[in-house]
Amino acid sequence: MTSAYRALRFTSFAERGAWMRAAADLIETEVDEVAQIVTLEMGKPIGQAKSETLKCARIMRFYASNAEGFLAYEPLDDPSSVNASRAGTRYEPLGVVLAVMPWNYPLWQVVRFAAPALMAGNTGLLKHASNVPQSALYLDSLFKRAGFPAGAFQTLLIGSAQVEAVLNDERVRAVTLTGSEAAGRSVASIAGHNIKKAVLELGGSDPFIIMPTANLEKAVTTAVTARTQNNGQSCIAGKRFIIHADVYDQFARLFTQKMEALVLGDPSDLATQVGPLATESGRSDLAELVNDAKLQGATILTRGSIPDGPGWFYPPTVITDLHDGMRLVLEEAFGPVATLYRAESREEAVRIANQTTFGLSSSIWTTDQGDEDYFVDTLDVGAVFINGMTVSYPELPFGGIKDSGYGRELAAAGIREFCNLKTIWNA
Ligand code: NAP
Repeated sequence: MTSAYRALRFTSFAERGAWMRAAADLIETEVDEVAQIVTLEMGKPIGQAKSETLKCARIMRFYASNAEGFLAYEPLDDPSSVNASRAGTRYEPLGVVLAVMPWNYPLWQVVRFAAPALMAGNTGLLKHASNVPQSALYLDSLFKRAGFPAGAFQTLLIGSAQVEAVLNDERVRAVTLTGSEAAGRSVASIAGHNIKKAVLELGGSDPFIIMPTANLEKAVTTAVTARTQNNGQSCIAGKRFIIHADVYDQFARLFTQKMEALVLGDPSDLATQVGPLATESGRSDLAELVNDAKLQGATILTRGSIPDGPGWFYPPTVITDLHDGMRLVLEEAFGPVATLYRAESREEAVRIANQTTFGLSSSIWTTDQGDEDYFVDTLDVGAVFINGMTVSYPELPFGGIKDSGYGRELAAAGIREFCNLKTIWNA
Protein backbone atom coordinates (compact mmCIF):
# COMPACT_ATOMS: atom_id res chain seq x y z
CA MET A 1 0.00 0.00 0.00
CA THR A 2 1.53 3.33 -0.90
CA SER A 3 1.58 6.18 1.56
CA ALA A 4 -0.65 8.32 -0.70
CA TYR A 5 -3.22 5.53 -0.83
CA ARG A 6 -3.05 5.06 2.95
CA ALA A 7 -3.61 8.79 3.37
CA LEU A 8 -6.56 8.93 0.98
CA ARG A 9 -8.25 5.67 1.90
CA PHE A 10 -8.97 6.68 5.46
CA THR A 11 -10.27 10.15 4.68
CA SER A 12 -14.04 10.57 4.83
CA PHE A 13 -16.43 10.92 1.92
CA ALA A 14 -17.09 14.44 3.17
CA GLU A 15 -13.39 15.39 2.95
CA ARG A 16 -12.94 13.84 -0.48
CA GLY A 17 -16.19 15.43 -1.60
CA ALA A 18 -14.97 18.87 -0.52
CA TRP A 19 -11.74 18.46 -2.51
CA MET A 20 -13.67 17.17 -5.53
CA ARG A 21 -16.04 20.15 -5.40
CA ALA A 22 -13.04 22.47 -5.12
CA ALA A 23 -11.61 20.84 -8.27
CA ALA A 24 -14.96 21.42 -10.02
CA ASP A 25 -14.94 25.09 -8.98
CA LEU A 26 -11.36 25.51 -10.23
CA ILE A 27 -11.88 23.92 -13.61
CA GLU A 28 -15.02 25.99 -14.15
CA THR A 29 -13.16 29.19 -13.31
CA GLU A 30 -10.33 28.22 -15.63
CA VAL A 31 -12.53 27.02 -18.49
CA ASP A 32 -11.27 29.49 -21.12
CA GLU A 33 -7.61 28.78 -20.53
CA VAL A 34 -8.10 25.00 -20.26
CA ALA A 35 -10.20 24.84 -23.42
CA GLN A 36 -7.41 26.61 -25.30
CA ILE A 37 -4.92 23.97 -24.20
CA VAL A 38 -7.23 21.22 -25.46
CA THR A 39 -7.87 22.90 -28.81
CA LEU A 40 -4.18 23.60 -29.35
CA GLU A 41 -3.14 20.07 -28.46
CA MET A 42 -5.68 18.04 -30.41
CA GLY A 43 -7.63 20.38 -32.69
CA LYS A 44 -11.16 20.18 -31.28
CA PRO A 45 -13.33 23.25 -32.04
CA ILE A 46 -13.02 25.67 -29.14
CA GLY A 47 -16.73 25.63 -28.25
CA GLN A 48 -16.61 21.84 -27.89
CA ALA A 49 -13.45 22.13 -25.78
CA LYS A 50 -15.32 24.44 -23.40
CA SER A 51 -18.27 22.05 -23.19
CA GLU A 52 -15.91 19.18 -22.40
CA THR A 53 -14.25 21.21 -19.64
CA LEU A 54 -17.58 22.10 -18.05
CA LYS A 55 -18.79 18.52 -18.28
CA CYS A 56 -15.80 17.57 -16.11
CA ALA A 57 -17.06 19.89 -13.37
CA ARG A 58 -20.46 18.23 -13.63
CA ILE A 59 -19.14 14.70 -13.11
CA MET A 60 -16.95 15.83 -10.23
CA ARG A 61 -19.96 17.24 -8.42
CA PHE A 62 -22.01 14.17 -9.31
CA TYR A 63 -19.58 11.80 -7.61
CA ALA A 64 -18.90 14.25 -4.75
CA SER A 65 -22.64 14.04 -3.97
CA ASN A 66 -23.32 10.38 -4.76
CA ALA A 67 -20.20 8.33 -3.96
CA GLU A 68 -21.16 7.64 -0.36
CA GLY A 69 -24.60 6.36 -1.36
CA PHE A 70 -23.21 4.21 -4.20
CA LEU A 71 -20.71 2.60 -1.83
CA ALA A 72 -22.94 2.28 1.23
CA TYR A 73 -22.98 -0.94 3.27
CA GLU A 74 -25.60 -3.36 1.93
CA PRO A 75 -27.09 -5.51 4.67
CA LEU A 76 -28.60 -8.91 3.90
CA ASP A 77 -32.35 -8.68 4.52
CA ASP A 78 -32.53 -12.04 6.26
CA PRO A 79 -29.18 -12.80 7.97
CA SER A 80 -30.70 -15.92 9.61
CA SER A 81 -30.70 -17.54 6.16
CA VAL A 82 -26.87 -17.68 6.46
CA ASN A 83 -26.89 -18.48 10.17
CA ALA A 84 -25.77 -14.96 11.09
CA SER A 85 -27.07 -12.23 13.33
CA ARG A 86 -25.84 -9.71 10.74
CA ALA A 87 -24.38 -10.10 7.26
CA GLY A 88 -23.80 -7.88 4.29
CA THR A 89 -21.31 -6.34 1.89
CA ARG A 90 -19.24 -3.21 1.84
CA TYR A 91 -17.19 -1.53 -0.88
CA GLU A 92 -13.56 -0.70 -0.21
CA PRO A 93 -11.02 0.94 -2.51
CA LEU A 94 -8.51 -1.30 -4.30
CA GLY A 95 -5.47 0.97 -4.10
CA VAL A 96 -3.40 2.51 -6.86
CA VAL A 97 -5.17 2.43 -10.24
CA LEU A 98 -3.33 3.13 -13.49
CA ALA A 99 -5.30 5.02 -16.14
CA VAL A 100 -4.07 4.80 -19.74
CA MET A 101 -6.01 7.46 -21.59
CA PRO A 102 -6.57 8.75 -25.15
CA TRP A 103 -6.24 12.24 -26.60
CA ASN A 104 -9.70 12.59 -28.13
CA TYR A 105 -11.42 13.90 -24.97
CA PRO A 106 -8.23 14.68 -23.08
CA LEU A 107 -10.00 16.01 -19.98
CA TRP A 108 -13.29 14.13 -19.92
CA GLN A 109 -11.85 10.64 -20.42
CA VAL A 110 -9.51 11.16 -17.48
CA VAL A 111 -12.00 12.82 -15.17
CA ARG A 112 -14.65 10.18 -15.74
CA PHE A 113 -12.09 7.77 -14.28
CA ALA A 114 -10.57 10.08 -11.67
CA ALA A 115 -13.76 11.46 -10.10
CA PRO A 116 -15.21 8.07 -9.06
CA ALA A 117 -11.79 6.52 -8.34
CA LEU A 118 -10.69 9.27 -5.98
CA MET A 119 -14.12 9.50 -4.33
CA ALA A 120 -13.92 5.76 -3.62
CA GLY A 121 -10.55 6.31 -1.92
CA ASN A 122 -8.32 4.92 -4.66
CA THR A 123 -5.33 6.85 -5.92
CA GLY A 124 -4.81 7.45 -9.64
CA LEU A 125 -1.75 7.32 -11.88
CA LEU A 126 -2.33 8.84 -15.29
CA LYS A 127 -0.47 7.75 -18.41
CA HIS A 128 -2.02 10.09 -20.93
CA ALA A 129 -1.65 9.97 -24.70
CA SER A 130 1.73 11.35 -25.77
CA ASN A 131 0.23 14.18 -27.84
CA VAL A 132 -1.65 15.85 -24.92
CA PRO A 133 1.00 16.45 -22.23
CA GLN A 134 -0.31 19.90 -21.29
CA SER A 135 -3.78 18.50 -20.60
CA ALA A 136 -2.18 15.75 -18.51
CA LEU A 137 -0.13 18.23 -16.47
CA TYR A 138 -3.13 20.50 -16.00
CA LEU A 139 -5.12 17.64 -14.44
CA ASP A 140 -2.19 16.75 -12.18
CA SER A 141 -2.08 20.31 -10.91
CA LEU A 142 -5.88 20.60 -10.66
CA PHE A 143 -6.36 17.82 -8.12
CA LYS A 144 -3.36 19.02 -6.07
CA ARG A 145 -4.61 22.60 -6.01
CA ALA A 146 -8.07 21.37 -5.03
CA GLY A 147 -6.56 19.95 -1.83
CA PHE A 148 -6.19 16.21 -2.49
CA PRO A 149 -3.22 14.76 -0.54
CA ALA A 150 0.13 14.59 -2.35
CA GLY A 151 0.22 11.54 -4.60
CA ALA A 152 -3.56 11.05 -4.73
CA PHE A 153 -3.52 11.76 -8.47
CA GLN A 154 -0.30 11.92 -10.49
CA THR A 155 0.54 12.30 -14.13
CA LEU A 156 3.39 10.13 -15.39
CA LEU A 157 4.88 11.54 -18.56
CA ILE A 158 5.78 8.16 -20.03
CA GLY A 159 5.43 6.47 -23.40
CA SER A 160 3.34 3.39 -24.06
CA ALA A 161 6.41 1.13 -23.88
CA GLN A 162 6.71 1.93 -20.15
CA VAL A 163 3.15 0.92 -19.29
CA GLU A 164 4.13 -2.71 -18.79
CA ALA A 165 6.68 -1.89 -16.08
CA VAL A 166 4.17 0.28 -14.21
CA LEU A 167 1.50 -2.38 -14.41
CA ASN A 168 3.93 -5.07 -13.26
CA ASP A 169 4.65 -3.03 -10.12
CA GLU A 170 2.91 -4.71 -7.21
CA ARG A 171 1.77 -1.36 -5.77
CA VAL A 172 -0.49 -0.88 -8.79
CA ARG A 173 -3.67 -2.89 -8.23
CA ALA A 174 -5.74 -2.25 -11.34
CA VAL A 175 -5.79 -0.57 -14.72
CA THR A 176 -8.32 1.22 -16.87
CA LEU A 177 -7.59 1.86 -20.52
CA THR A 178 -9.54 3.94 -22.99
CA GLY A 179 -8.12 3.69 -26.47
CA SER A 180 -7.64 1.43 -29.42
CA GLU A 181 -8.24 -2.29 -29.60
CA ALA A 182 -4.50 -2.95 -30.02
CA ALA A 183 -3.61 -1.03 -26.86
CA GLY A 184 -6.47 -2.76 -25.03
CA ARG A 185 -5.28 -6.22 -25.98
CA SER A 186 -1.75 -5.46 -24.84
CA VAL A 187 -2.70 -3.89 -21.51
CA ALA A 188 -5.35 -6.52 -20.75
CA SER A 189 -2.85 -9.32 -21.26
CA ILE A 190 -0.31 -7.69 -18.93
CA ALA A 191 -3.07 -7.15 -16.35
CA GLY A 192 -4.21 -10.75 -16.81
CA HIS A 193 -0.70 -12.07 -16.29
CA ASN A 194 -0.50 -10.07 -13.05
CA ILE A 195 -4.05 -11.02 -12.01
CA LYS A 196 -5.07 -7.39 -11.79
CA LYS A 197 -8.48 -5.95 -12.47
CA ALA A 198 -8.88 -4.17 -15.83
CA VAL A 199 -11.56 -2.04 -17.42
CA LEU A 200 -11.34 -1.50 -21.18
CA GLU A 201 -13.15 1.19 -23.14
CA LEU A 202 -12.09 0.56 -26.71
CA GLY A 203 -13.17 1.45 -30.20
CA GLY A 204 -16.61 1.48 -31.72
CA SER A 205 -18.36 1.60 -35.06
CA ASP A 206 -21.79 2.46 -33.80
CA PRO A 207 -24.86 1.86 -35.95
CA PHE A 208 -27.35 4.70 -36.39
CA ILE A 209 -30.57 3.12 -37.68
CA ILE A 210 -33.35 5.12 -39.35
CA MET A 211 -36.77 3.52 -39.86
CA PRO A 212 -39.70 4.86 -41.94
CA THR A 213 -41.61 6.23 -38.92
CA ALA A 214 -38.67 8.37 -37.76
CA ASN A 215 -38.77 12.14 -37.62
CA LEU A 216 -36.45 12.38 -40.62
CA GLU A 217 -35.45 16.00 -40.29
CA LYS A 218 -34.39 15.52 -36.67
CA ALA A 219 -32.66 12.25 -37.51
CA VAL A 220 -30.63 13.90 -40.29
CA THR A 221 -29.56 16.88 -38.17
CA THR A 222 -28.59 14.63 -35.28
CA ALA A 223 -26.80 12.20 -37.60
CA VAL A 224 -24.55 15.01 -38.85
CA THR A 225 -23.67 16.04 -35.30
CA ALA A 226 -23.17 12.43 -34.21
CA ARG A 227 -20.74 11.77 -37.06
CA THR A 228 -18.75 15.01 -36.98
CA GLN A 229 -18.53 16.19 -33.38
CA ASN A 230 -14.97 16.18 -32.08
CA ASN A 231 -13.88 16.24 -35.75
CA GLY A 232 -15.35 12.75 -36.09
CA GLN A 233 -12.97 11.28 -33.51
CA SER A 234 -15.36 9.91 -30.93
CA CYS A 235 -15.73 6.28 -29.91
CA ILE A 236 -19.51 6.68 -29.59
CA ALA A 237 -20.00 8.59 -32.83
CA GLY A 238 -22.66 7.24 -35.13
CA LYS A 239 -20.40 5.84 -37.85
CA ARG A 240 -22.58 3.51 -39.92
CA PHE A 241 -25.96 4.86 -41.01
CA ILE A 242 -28.37 2.03 -41.72
CA ILE A 243 -31.47 3.40 -43.41
CA HIS A 244 -34.71 1.66 -44.28
CA ALA A 245 -35.24 1.53 -48.05
CA ASP A 246 -38.49 3.56 -47.80
CA VAL A 247 -36.61 6.64 -46.58
CA TYR A 248 -33.11 5.89 -47.86
CA ASP A 249 -33.01 8.30 -50.83
CA GLN A 250 -34.48 11.17 -48.87
CA PHE A 251 -32.12 10.64 -45.93
CA ALA A 252 -29.05 10.29 -48.17
CA ARG A 253 -29.84 13.54 -50.00
CA LEU A 254 -30.51 15.64 -46.89
CA PHE A 255 -27.62 14.15 -44.94
CA THR A 256 -25.13 14.73 -47.76
CA GLN A 257 -26.28 18.35 -48.14
CA LYS A 258 -25.78 19.01 -44.44
CA MET A 259 -22.39 17.28 -44.33
CA GLU A 260 -21.27 19.46 -47.26
CA ALA A 261 -22.46 22.64 -45.53
CA LEU A 262 -20.28 22.20 -42.41
CA VAL A 263 -17.63 24.88 -41.89
CA LEU A 264 -14.12 23.44 -41.89
CA GLY A 265 -11.28 25.50 -40.50
CA ASP A 266 -9.20 26.78 -37.61
CA PRO A 267 -10.55 25.11 -34.45
CA SER A 268 -9.91 28.19 -32.33
CA ASP A 269 -12.35 30.14 -34.52
CA LEU A 270 -15.84 29.99 -32.98
CA ALA A 271 -17.45 29.65 -36.43
CA THR A 272 -15.58 26.40 -37.19
CA GLN A 273 -17.65 23.23 -36.96
CA VAL A 274 -14.99 20.72 -38.01
CA GLY A 275 -11.28 21.18 -37.33
CA PRO A 276 -8.25 19.13 -38.36
CA LEU A 277 -7.66 15.58 -37.18
CA ALA A 278 -5.42 15.25 -34.15
CA THR A 279 -2.54 13.43 -35.81
CA GLU A 280 -1.08 12.99 -39.26
CA SER A 281 -1.15 9.22 -38.87
CA GLY A 282 -4.84 9.34 -37.90
CA ARG A 283 -5.56 11.15 -41.15
CA SER A 284 -3.61 8.72 -43.30
CA ASP A 285 -5.32 5.74 -41.60
CA LEU A 286 -8.69 7.28 -42.42
CA ALA A 287 -7.69 8.09 -46.02
CA GLU A 288 -6.53 4.48 -46.50
CA LEU A 289 -9.93 3.15 -45.39
CA VAL A 290 -11.72 5.45 -47.83
CA ASN A 291 -9.33 4.67 -50.70
CA ASP A 292 -9.77 0.94 -50.16
CA ALA A 293 -13.56 1.35 -50.44
CA LYS A 294 -13.22 3.56 -53.54
CA LEU A 295 -10.97 1.03 -55.24
CA GLN A 296 -13.52 -1.69 -54.56
CA GLY A 297 -16.38 0.25 -56.13
CA ALA A 298 -17.96 2.27 -53.33
CA THR A 299 -19.77 5.46 -54.35
CA ILE A 300 -18.58 8.73 -52.83
CA LEU A 301 -21.57 11.03 -52.32
CA THR A 302 -19.36 13.90 -51.22
CA ARG A 303 -15.63 14.62 -50.80
CA GLY A 304 -13.54 11.55 -49.91
CA SER A 305 -9.99 12.79 -50.32
CA ILE A 306 -7.34 14.77 -48.47
CA PRO A 307 -7.59 18.47 -49.38
CA ASP A 308 -4.60 20.56 -50.45
CA GLY A 309 -3.11 22.94 -47.92
CA PRO A 310 -1.68 22.88 -44.42
CA GLY A 311 -3.23 21.09 -41.43
CA TRP A 312 -4.36 17.50 -40.99
CA PHE A 313 -7.83 18.19 -42.37
CA TYR A 314 -10.13 15.50 -43.68
CA PRO A 315 -13.44 16.87 -44.96
CA PRO A 316 -16.85 15.47 -43.96
CA THR A 317 -17.38 12.59 -46.38
CA VAL A 318 -20.36 10.38 -47.24
CA ILE A 319 -19.94 6.96 -48.86
CA THR A 320 -22.44 4.38 -50.05
CA ASP A 321 -22.61 1.14 -52.10
CA LEU A 322 -20.40 -0.67 -49.61
CA HIS A 323 -19.97 -4.40 -49.59
CA ASP A 324 -18.32 -7.10 -47.53
CA GLY A 325 -14.61 -7.18 -48.11
CA MET A 326 -14.17 -3.42 -47.82
CA ARG A 327 -12.21 -2.49 -44.70
CA LEU A 328 -14.57 0.43 -44.07
CA VAL A 329 -17.43 -2.00 -43.48
CA LEU A 330 -15.78 -3.70 -40.53
CA GLU A 331 -13.18 -1.26 -39.20
CA GLU A 332 -13.60 1.95 -37.22
CA ALA A 333 -13.46 5.21 -39.23
CA PHE A 334 -11.93 7.63 -36.72
CA GLY A 335 -12.73 10.87 -38.53
CA PRO A 336 -15.71 12.53 -40.26
CA VAL A 337 -16.48 9.74 -42.74
CA ALA A 338 -20.04 8.41 -42.79
CA THR A 339 -21.06 5.17 -44.48
CA LEU A 340 -24.66 4.64 -45.62
CA TYR A 341 -26.34 1.23 -45.87
CA ARG A 342 -29.78 0.46 -47.31
CA ALA A 343 -31.86 -2.06 -45.35
CA GLU A 344 -35.09 -3.62 -46.65
CA SER A 345 -36.29 -4.65 -43.18
CA ARG A 346 -35.48 -4.31 -39.51
CA GLU A 347 -33.99 -7.79 -39.59
CA GLU A 348 -31.55 -6.71 -42.28
CA ALA A 349 -30.76 -3.53 -40.35
CA VAL A 350 -29.78 -5.58 -37.30
CA ARG A 351 -27.71 -7.99 -39.39
CA ILE A 352 -25.69 -5.04 -40.74
CA ALA A 353 -25.50 -3.39 -37.32
CA ASN A 354 -24.18 -6.53 -35.61
CA GLN A 355 -21.71 -7.54 -38.31
CA THR A 356 -18.68 -5.71 -36.90
CA THR A 357 -16.59 -6.99 -34.01
CA PHE A 358 -17.48 -3.84 -32.04
CA GLY A 359 -20.39 -3.45 -29.62
CA LEU A 360 -20.20 -0.04 -28.00
CA SER A 361 -23.45 1.88 -28.45
CA SER A 362 -26.20 2.48 -31.01
CA SER A 363 -28.87 4.97 -31.97
CA ILE A 364 -32.24 3.98 -33.39
CA TRP A 365 -34.83 6.25 -34.95
CA THR A 366 -38.42 5.03 -34.98
CA THR A 367 -41.79 5.82 -33.46
CA ASP A 368 -43.02 2.26 -33.91
CA GLN A 369 -43.08 0.40 -30.60
CA GLY A 370 -42.59 -2.97 -32.27
CA ASP A 371 -39.45 -1.76 -34.06
CA GLU A 372 -38.13 -0.17 -30.89
CA ASP A 373 -38.57 -3.38 -28.87
CA TYR A 374 -37.01 -5.44 -31.66
CA PHE A 375 -33.85 -3.29 -31.83
CA VAL A 376 -33.45 -3.08 -28.06
CA ASP A 377 -33.71 -6.89 -27.91
CA THR A 378 -31.38 -7.73 -30.78
CA LEU A 379 -28.57 -5.16 -31.02
CA ASP A 380 -25.30 -6.51 -29.59
CA VAL A 381 -24.18 -3.32 -27.88
CA GLY A 382 -23.61 -1.69 -24.50
CA ALA A 383 -26.32 0.94 -25.03
CA VAL A 384 -29.31 1.80 -27.20
CA PHE A 385 -30.32 5.45 -27.59
CA ILE A 386 -33.81 5.87 -29.06
CA ASN A 387 -34.52 8.96 -31.16
CA GLY A 388 -31.34 10.63 -29.97
CA MET A 389 -27.61 10.25 -30.38
CA THR A 390 -25.39 8.46 -27.90
CA VAL A 391 -24.17 10.77 -25.16
CA SER A 392 -22.32 9.84 -21.98
CA TYR A 393 -24.08 11.01 -18.85
CA PRO A 394 -22.61 10.71 -15.33
CA GLU A 395 -25.94 9.16 -14.26
CA LEU A 396 -25.89 6.27 -16.79
CA PRO A 397 -23.44 3.34 -17.05
CA PHE A 398 -21.15 3.53 -20.07
CA GLY A 399 -19.21 0.77 -21.81
CA GLY A 400 -19.26 -1.85 -24.50
CA ILE A 401 -19.21 -5.54 -25.31
CA LYS A 402 -17.28 -7.63 -27.88
CA ASP A 403 -14.11 -5.86 -29.04
CA SER A 404 -15.34 -2.56 -27.60
CA GLY A 405 -14.14 -3.77 -24.23
CA TYR A 406 -15.49 -4.73 -20.83
CA GLY A 407 -16.41 -3.15 -17.54
CA ARG A 408 -18.42 0.01 -17.07
CA GLU A 409 -17.70 3.62 -16.30
CA LEU A 410 -20.02 6.26 -14.83
CA ALA A 411 -23.02 5.91 -12.51
CA ALA A 412 -22.91 3.44 -9.59
CA ALA A 413 -21.43 0.69 -11.77
CA GLY A 414 -18.43 2.90 -12.63
CA ILE A 415 -17.39 3.67 -9.07
CA ARG A 416 -17.81 0.04 -8.03
CA GLU A 417 -15.44 -1.29 -10.73
CA PHE A 418 -12.38 -0.36 -8.70
CA CYS A 419 -13.67 -1.49 -5.32
CA ASN A 420 -13.28 -4.64 -3.31
CA LEU A 421 -16.72 -5.99 -2.49
CA LYS A 422 -16.04 -7.27 1.03
CA THR A 423 -18.50 -9.69 2.57
CA ILE A 424 -19.04 -9.39 6.33
CA TRP A 425 -20.65 -12.27 8.27
CA ASN A 426 -21.25 -11.93 11.96
CA ALA A 427 -22.38 -14.82 14.17
P1 NAP B 1 -4.39 4.50 -28.65
O1 NAP B 1 -3.36 4.69 -29.67
O2 NAP B 1 -4.75 3.14 -28.22
O3 NAP B 1 -3.90 5.34 -27.38
C1 NAP B 1 -4.63 5.37 -26.17
C2 NAP B 1 -3.66 5.34 -25.01
O4 NAP B 1 -3.04 4.05 -24.97
C3 NAP B 1 -2.53 6.35 -25.13
O5 NAP B 1 -2.20 6.80 -23.84
C4 NAP B 1 -1.41 5.52 -25.72
O6 NAP B 1 -0.15 6.04 -25.42
C5 NAP B 1 -1.62 4.21 -25.03
N1 NAP B 1 -1.11 3.04 -25.74
C6 NAP B 1 -1.10 2.82 -27.08
N2 NAP B 1 -0.60 1.60 -27.34
C7 NAP B 1 -0.30 1.04 -26.15
C8 NAP B 1 0.26 -0.19 -25.75
N3 NAP B 1 0.59 -1.13 -26.63
N4 NAP B 1 0.46 -0.43 -24.43
C9 NAP B 1 0.11 0.49 -23.53
N5 NAP B 1 -0.42 1.69 -23.83
C10 NAP B 1 -0.62 1.97 -25.12
O7 NAP B 1 -5.76 5.17 -29.04
P2 NAP B 1 -6.00 6.63 -29.60
O8 NAP B 1 -5.61 6.65 -31.01
O9 NAP B 1 -5.38 7.64 -28.68
O10 NAP B 1 -7.57 6.77 -29.41
C11 NAP B 1 -8.44 6.33 -30.38
C12 NAP B 1 -9.13 5.05 -30.00
O11 NAP B 1 -9.69 5.13 -28.70
C13 NAP B 1 -10.30 4.78 -30.92
O12 NAP B 1 -10.33 3.43 -31.25
C14 NAP B 1 -11.50 5.15 -30.06
O13 NAP B 1 -12.70 4.54 -30.48
C15 NAP B 1 -11.05 4.72 -28.73
N6 NAP B 1 -11.83 5.37 -27.67
C16 NAP B 1 -12.72 4.63 -26.95
C17 NAP B 1 -13.50 5.26 -25.98
C18 NAP B 1 -14.50 4.47 -25.16
O14 NAP B 1 -14.96 4.99 -24.16
N7 NAP B 1 -14.86 3.26 -25.53
C19 NAP B 1 -13.37 6.61 -25.76
C20 NAP B 1 -12.47 7.33 -26.53
C21 NAP B 1 -11.69 6.70 -27.48
P3 NAP B 1 0.73 6.84 -26.51
O15 NAP B 1 -0.05 8.04 -26.89
O16 NAP B 1 1.98 7.17 -25.79
O17 NAP B 1 0.93 5.90 -27.66
